[in-house]
Amino acid sequence: MKYPNLTLLLAMGILPTTADSQEMKAIYASNPFLSTYKTPFGVPPFNLIKNEHFKPAIMEGMMLHKKEVDFITTNKSVPTFENTIVALEHSGELLDKVSTVFYNMNSANTNEEIQQIANEVAPKISAHNDNIYLNEKLFSKVKAVWNQKNELKISAEDQKLLEKTYKRFVRSGANLSDSDKEKLKIINSELAVLTLKFGQNILAETNNYEYVVSNKEELAGLPEELIAAAAETAKAKDKKGKWVITLSNSSVMPFLQYSSNRILRKEIWEAYQNRGNNGNAFDNNANALQIANLRSEKARLLGYKTHAQYVLEESMAKSPEKVMEFLNQLWTPALAKAKVEETEIKQMMVAEGIKDNVQPYDWRYYSEKIRKEKYDLDEQELRPYFSLDAVTQGVFMVCDKLYGLQFKQLKDVPTYHDDVTAWEVTEKNGNYLGLLYMDFYPRASKRGGAWMTSYKPQSKEGGKRMAPIISIVCNFSKPTADTPALFTFDEVSTYFHEFGHALHGLLSDVNYKSLAGTNVPRDFVELPSQIMENWATDSEVLKMYAKHYKTGKVIPDALLQKIENSGTYGQGFATVEYLASAFLDMDFHTINTTLSGSAADFEKASMKKIGLIPSIIPRHKSNYFSHVFSGGYSAGYYSYIWSGVLDTDAFDQFKKTSLFDPTKANLFRTQILEKGGTEEPMELYKKFRGSEPSIEPLLKKRGLNSPTK
Ligand SMILES: [Zn+2]
Repeated sequence: MKYPNLTLLLAMGILPTTADSQEMKAIYASNPFLSTYKTPFGVPPFNLIKNEHFKPAIMEGMMLHKKEVDFITTNKSVPTFENTIVALEHSGELLDKVSTVFYNMNSANTNEEIQQIANEVAPKISAHNDNIYLNEKLFSKVKAVWNQKNELKISAEDQKLLEKTYKRFVRSGANLSDSDKEKLKIINSELAVLTLKFGQNILAETNNYEYVVSNKEELAGLPEELIAAAAETAKAKDKKGKWVITLSNSSVMPFLQYSSNRILRKEIWEAYQNRGNNGNAFDNNANALQIANLRSEKARLLGYKTHAQYVLEESMAKSPEKVMEFLNQLWTPALAKAKVEETEIKQMMVAEGIKDNVQPYDWRYYSEKIRKEKYDLDEQELRPYFSLDAVTQGVFMVCDKLYGLQFKQLKDVPTYHDDVTAWEVTEKNGNYLGLLYMDFYPRASKRGGAWMTSYKPQSKEGGKRMAPIISIVCNFSKPTADTPALFTFDEVSTYFHEFGHALHGLLSDVNYKSLAGTNVPRDFVELPSQIMENWATDSEVLKMYAKHYKTGKVIPDALLQKIENSGTYGQGFATVEYLASAFLDMDFHTINTTLSGSAADFEKASMKKIGLIPSIIPRHKSNYFSHVFSGGYSAGYYSYIWSGVLDTDAFDQFKKTSLFDPTKANLFRTQILEKGGTEEPMELYKKFRGSEPSIEPLLKKRGLNSPTK
């Protein structure tokens, strides 16, 4: 017995389960989480899972996890890598099994009952984790193994697992005094509840708003496809014959881009940017501030100056100073470019007789008009070439050309919603790699944005590769009564982006699940995703997949030329609104005193500091900045542009020879996609590239002047 395996311990009678009573036996028999899934590819049996199954399975999962940990802690033998570190890695299997499904459902297909259970179990799971990581006896065992690290004859990956496990204990407070441990437990529990609440508030605020149009004239400027989509939305909301604009990105963003009705643009933009800022039960101002304060308190308790310092220790950037230096380097040229774009907008507004200054609700509308006037490029013209089918074939083709991957749709695999499709992913030689779910359209039960997640990370058991189960979830434009889903250029990029994350999960080839796939520093995790966007938007690749949904005709050269000509137009605005949020995130997480007042005031001061122009607001304002207040990107929103340096530099390598250069593709796969978190990111990157990345390709791609020149 190499390590205490749950099933084995149960069989040996070492772990008395609660299933001893008649009542519990009945619960076990009817709860799909409590037996082995009897489904194709071992996917969760979504058709059998009901809300009432979650809580008992989570409670049972925590109980078993505790017993497994107790077994490790009370083991009389000398602590070894196997009986301590590997044993911990394999513990908590049932809890993982149920909680991945539960939290994925809470993000992608939630309801009031699930949200209620989430609120109930969040402090319990937080306390459960604290009981493990703050367990003195257990930590002394982990430490004993750590102290022998130089003498142990274990592989580099084992060393990494040891390091990661040891650090996780230290970073969770294992070295604290008993009284500080108690303080930490309270902070963790409060944070668990608040971050959950923050996300739930945004979903409620997004769902609670709709703008109903009864008079079609109010839709002036909108292309027919968008009017049809608004009519579909109205129909789904029992308002047949009317049009509804919602605060989902796929509704609100195109509206702001095309509506010539300035008063209505203002109204809808205000509703959008005030989500979580309406002084009602869903207001996030106090939550954001409190989350930042608690994180700061926690960091200081653990011996760090700030939360950012605590977080960044584990990143490629390493320190807040380094992140700020990097952001500042980009800020000046980005702001300069945005100001040029603003002047062009102002000129156009003056020409239209509008005397007002440029407002945030003017940017998307006039940018689109200028793009059309200057470059003759109408985004709507592109959409017929980006049907769901065409883009999907495009993604598959790129994956085939680079890595030889094959995709087959599976109709007999249970899914959690009719919109979800399931795919078998195999190597060219037919070897099974993993299962992929794709879930594309917005609905009231799904949070906004796009993300990749996993139901089962890749790992190895006895040397045998256990295939992962991966999912991508998006909020794309839906099909209408007479057209298939036709994506915007942005949505196409997002599709490739999330698919890149999925590849990171699917191609993973490591021993331990906690080092698999996307378990890498956040400022490295966007490399596999963002590099895919480069293939999505390259003319050479577009010609291979962008085909008209009606005629099947390939996107015309003239249109590609227009895309090429419009080049970096709009990058000033896009970079500035993004960087503003990145600075805001850093400001919230580099505080070392307790904030008072409101998040809105803090944001105002933060934006004043960088000199953000009034016509642009941060891409995510504090009141709906879910990446950092309810997701895992606190002191990490800068990661996208940090990884941007890596992905543009990496893609540049392909451009130098061929977009599908087999040697480079193989290096990218074997040195980056397969390796997960088993090695330092920069070392992996250098193995692919031969050197550290250069920032120049990123500046060039965004049309920013090099600040060093
Ligand atoms: Zn991403």
